Amino acid sequence: MASVIVVGGGLAGLAATVALAGRGHAVTLLESRPRLGGRASSFTDPVSGELVDACQHVSMGCCTAFHGLCETLGVRGLLEPQKRLWFRTPDGRESIFAADPWPAPFHLGRALLGAHYLTATEKLRIAYAMVRMVMESPEADPPLEAWLLTHMQTRRSIDRFWSVVLVSALNETVANVGLKYARKVFVDGFMRTRDGHTVHVPSVPLGRLYGDELRSWMRTHGVVTRLGSGVREVRPGGVSLRDGEVLTADSVVLAVPFERVLDLLPEAIRTQPFFARIGRFTPSPITSVHLWLDREILNHPHAVLVDSLGQWVFTRGEVAPGRHYLQVVVSASRELKVLGREEIQTRIVDELKRLYPAMNDAKVLQVKVVTEQTATFSVVPGIDELRPTQRTPLAGFVLAGDYTQTGWPATMEGAVRSGQLAAAVVDEHSSSPDISPVRIEVEWRGG
Ligand SMILES: Cc1cc2nc3c(=O)[nH]c(=O)nc-3n(C[C@H](O)[C@H](O)[C@H](O)COP(=O)(O)OP(=O)(O)OC[C@H]3O[C@@H](n4cnc5c(N)ncnc54)[C@H](O)[C@@H]3O)c2cc1C
Repeated sequence: MASVIVVGGGLAGLAATVALAGRGHAVTLLESRPRLGGRASSFTDPVSGELVDACQHVSMGCCTAFHGLCETLGVRGLLEPQKRLWFRTPDGRESIFAADPWPAPFHLGRALLGAHYLTATEKLRIAYAMVRMVMESPEADPPLEAWLLTHMQTRRSIDRFWSVVLVSALNETVANVGLKYARKVFVDGFMRTRDGHTVHVPSVPLGRLYGDELRSWMRTHGVVTRLGSGVREVRPGGVSLRDGEVLTADSVVLAVPFERVLDLLPEAIRTQPFFARIGRFTPSPITSVHLWLDREILNHPHAVLVDSLGQWVFTRGEVAPGRHYLQVVVSASRELKVLGREEIQTRIVDELKRLYPAMNDAKVLQVKVVTEQTATFSVVPGIDELRPTQRTPLAGFVLAGDYTQTGWPATMEGAVRSGQLAAAVVDEHSSSPDISPVRIEVEWRGG
């Protein structure tokens, strides 16, 4: 069995740790922050003391690796499958999206037909484009918008259907994405299986989801978890921490976000073409607006917002006496960058007033606007050419993270898959260490 250092306690690092420690390797997990979960984590609101998600995270039925990890950790029961989705337009009308008991892909046909915000012609054209999309090669990745326009879609159907599904699933606008990952969302989510589309919402804050059970699993499997341990430099066979400590191991898994990777590598490594391309990813932001109101304004646990600035609204109900919490998520929120927090807040509150009449009588007790500027990488056409494999050209040095080659966009599922793939590479290296192609010697960066 090998000794392994995993750098980064997000879902990629956690999945790698669980896979490796589960197979008996001696794992040390280093995380710079005081908590695990990475981007999928919570903060303690200083006003109320409540644990609040930086942003609501949801998974879909097709996220099998993520659900498997939750199962292993004993927290699968904390994900609530939503049997129905409510789609709401600014005129206050709603459509319910729910599956019929028919085989895929026919199970969602009636749900599409029932969408009040699309005309009958638009629905027919959408069905046509979906069939054509499935017939495309899974590797084809031309710009999506042009592809849609040449397949009978109109500006209105792009705004009211394709964007509604894809902007939140891919965290990028239809104008910027490629066909490949859009196709994946529709095939895996809506066509391949009956429950691929089911949205799972954690019933607890993410900090709780990746909390007690995770820590207990780590302890039982002998994982040394070091929080608040920022790594300054990484190389095959070891890491140096920000406080100067040097740790060595048979293998190192680097599971930090794409924008941190190159900073942690010695120059001799980061300038190699395999690694240098990681510097060419473009980030895409997500903004979440957290509101505490004196009453409930939603009549369902969530809603998908059509023709609106926000794409999803989630409610957690009454979190403390007289305090009702809800969150509005704006994915691919680049356009909000020029607005200040107050302006974003005003626009979202005004939008909620149009969508939900009860908001006009509600008292806003507290608002917090959180924007993650580098929430995910942008899934532009051809993005996979930039995504490195978990296996690197260096012996005993492996990458993990949602940005690596997983066949998934930047999601919890992609992160978990990357961690599991990274663990498989470590396994291979530890069983035959001499087959790895390159060894390089570099001096540790000075203190
Ligand atoms: C606002 C927002 C909303 C999202 N919504 C969804 C959603 O609904 N569904 C979904 O599937 N996905 C969603 N995502 C994407 C999802 O959160 C990510 O794809 C996934 O969590 C990435 O995991 P990761 O382990 O690759 O990276 P990260 O979560 O970024 O983990 C990397 C870890 O490395 C640590 N680290 C960095 N530098 C160092 C260092 N020098 N030393 C030690 N540790 C270090 C970081 O602190 C972090 O904990 C969302 C992301 C954001 C930001």
